[in-house]
Amino acid sequence: MVEFLQNILIYLGLYNGKIDGIFGPNLKNALIKFQRQNRLNADGIVGPRTWLALRPYIDGGLGFIIPTNINYSYYILQININSLKTLYPFLEISSSGKSVLGNDIPVIKIGRGEKEVFYSASIHANEWITSPVLMKFLADYCYTYVNDLTIYGYSARQLYETTTIYIMPMINPDGVNLVTGEISPNSSLYTNTQLIANRYPNISFPNGWKANIRGVDLNLQFPAGWNEARRIKFSQGFTTPSPRDFVGLGPLTEPESLAIYNFTLEHNFRLILTYHTQGEVIFWQFQNYTPNESLSIGTQFSNVSGYSLEETPYNSSFAGYKDWFIQNYIRPGYTIEVGRGTNPLPTSQFDEIYKDNLGILVLGAILI
Ligand SMILES: [Zn+2]
Repeated sequence: MVEFLQNILIYLGLYNGKIDGIFGPNLKNALIKFQRQNRLNADGIVGPRTWLALRPYIDGGLGFIIPTNINYSYYILQININSLKTLYPFLEISSSGKSVLGNDIPVIKIGRGEKEVFYSASIHANEWITSPVLMKFLADYCYTYVNDLTIYGYSARQLYETTTIYIMPMINPDGVNLVTGEISPNSSLYTNTQLIANRYPNISFPNGWKANIRGVDLNLQFPAGWNEARRIKFSQGFTTPSPRDFVGLGPLTEPESLAIYNFTLEHNFRLILTYHTQGEVIFWQFQNYTPNESLSIGTQFSNVSGYSLEETPYNSSFAGYKDWFIQNYIRPGYTIEVGRGTNPLPTSQFDEIYKDNLGILVLGAILI
């Protein structure tokens, strides 16, 4: 929330400090300037009337929709979804289920074509930069649709009529809140997660956290070689709740994994993309399953992004969402690993990541 305010005030040229989530004296002064400019009570507090004056920036009416230079928490996601819905009422928003902490896991539907595809992100907590990638794509698609423009060279209106895209931008909201700093270090929730992390001193906390809030890796929860995933991860020492790589006590024990699983079963997706970070790589296979169009579409994804199309390393080739999708439907499913470096990737990589992936996101809805 504070980061969001800092971002708006930087955008308005009123604040020149860091985006650090701290409500310090410089930020308070900037807020007071904003309040004076808007003839509000200049008390340096975001009360209801100040909030009302800030809203146009949040709602995108003044050119500011998806912030891509701040820690993208679940809170910001919710604000952005509401803003997009206000601006673009044709979007359909629903909840696919609730997280361990009771946060709704939202899905946005855009388009009215018979063909359905599904894009998801942030199943791993410290890979949250993938959420604003999908949200910015959604915002750009809405904008080009309303203004009858092209997106990645394709008519947005034609895309809208032929394909329905479902977007689940944050499968693991609790984990993302932990990594983005939304959960206070003074809370018992934070302390409890830290106790889990303490058993893995080589994994930094909270930055190394990939799991859901109770220490289960949501992308090792699917009925596609789950026992083999369990064998591999147990042999690596992940036998109890962990910041990453704990498969859980069985497939689909976690509400977040179950939510995306059930959501998928309720639809007829011809193709899925699941977004992760690390390596600029596209994984397209599961064991011996080779859906007809997987290689040719994957090759085109590789061409437009510059990412390499690769075989999944054996030790991470079981029980993932895309593994299950391919096994269950024999249709194209892809894990897209964006960016390079240490997770969570710095927001300075956002523009490059978005540029690399826009083609994939558009072609995913066209090629199939
Ligand atoms: Zn991942």
